[in-house]
Amino acid sequence: MIRANSHFEKLKSSYLFRKIADRVKAFQEQRPEVRLIRLGIGDVTQPLPEACLDAFHKAVEEMGHVSTFRGYGPAEGYEFLRQAIAENDYRAYGADIGPDEIFVSDGSKGDCGNFQELFARDIVVGIPDPVYPVYLDSNVMAGRTGSFVDSAYQGVVYLPCSPETGFVPRPPELPVDLVYLCSPNNPTGTILGRNDLTAWVDWAKENKALILFDAAYAAFVRKKGLPRSIFEIDGAREVAVEFRSFSKTAGFTGTRCAFTVVPKDCRVFDDAGNLQPLYPLWYRRQTTKFNGVSYPVQRAAEATYSPEGQRQIDTIIEGYLKNADEICKTMKALGYEVAGGKHSPYVWVDAGMDDWAFFDLLLEKAGVVFTPGSGFGSKGAGYVRISAFGSSNGVVEAMTRIQQHILLSKSILPGEQPQ
Ligand code: PLP
Repeated sequence: MIRANSHFEKLKSSYLFRKIADRVKAFQEQRPEVRLIRLGIGDVTQPLPEACLDAFHKAVEEMGHVSTFRGYGPAEGYEFLRQAIAENDYRAYGADIGPDEIFVSDGSKGDCGNFQELFARDIVVGIPDPVYPVYLDSNVMAGRTGSFVDSAYQGVVYLPCSPETGFVPRPPELPVDLVYLCSPNNPTGTILGRNDLTAWVDWAKENKALILFDAAYAAFVRKKGLPRSIFEIDGAREVAVEFRSFSKTAGFTGTRCAFTVVPKDCRVFDDAGNLQPLYPLWYRRQTTKFNGVSYPVQRAAEATYSPEGQRQIDTIIEGYLKNADEICKTMKALGYEVAGGKHSPYVWVDAGMDDWAFFDLLLEKAGVVFTPGSGFGSKGAGYVRISAFGSSNGVVEAMTRIQQHILLSKSILPGEQPQ
């Protein structure tokens, strides 16, 4: 008798974005005249930079000729792309990472979800709360947790990200073997600074633990001196793996390209208690279950590092950050506590009420869609995530509508500041 993986039954039933889509659909059926503005799902809206598009076209053309055609590529990605990544994303920032430590992939979601396969079932996992749900759910599916009881999976060490912690996770008191960190964080938009990351690296060394560092939004860190990569921190090569993606950097959400860095110095214990390098495990995993990213996509990704590509990306990111700034300013002026939005496309707003109630309110009164924070973890309850990935006009209009509604509902005359 064929039986299902019973660990899937532990997963919380409703996937956040499905629930949002259902509510939005029901609302639109009732009120078809309302033009919705969606600042919910974290997908980009700007198209691929022209430099990427040109490289993409050229590479597609190469695939149509015997002399330039390419079949299967290396499972870890073409050398030209890994060289460009090592040079531009790491060595240019003083991080000692070589092309032979990089694995190109078709997305960080898969990499973040799959990496846990390399570890024993009975390790203890530490996960920020709230955070991108893939880390937790992939460990639940793998049977590394108990059941979901009182808003938490048994056996998981949650790392609270609340006003008390500055909305960033701090090293835990309890023993933990594997920690996921996400900076800039989805959904809170907060980042781990140099001191925060140094504390985490020191903690990992002391505790013989490993950090899986998700930097999918690294391109939004614009201020000099703020780390984009954990490998800018001394000693991180021994205790960290990093996930990066071209999705939010250069509009590759539909094109699909990302990479994972596994330093050769990073080691884990085998059953006999001896240290073994992690790199060959991920290499083995990838060559068994993954056959590489298409050549044209890798050429398009390589073009993100050209001078034109960099200029075009800067313009796009600056545009999104301007949207984030507009959102922060409006929500603060309306009296809301706000985090994130500075080095991130996400603004994290204390709704001052139940987050689904706030979601419904703004959907009905302003026709604006946000993401309720409780979908990212129990500490997200009472917060909403506002995404800056919309068009500039859409963001301005959404903020105007919210302002009008909130001011009206508080019976405050325009011009007066709410308390
Ligand atoms: N990591 C984080 C924190 C994300 O928010 C996302 C996507 O929203 C991803 C990874 C997935 O990126 P990709 O498009 O490369 O799969």
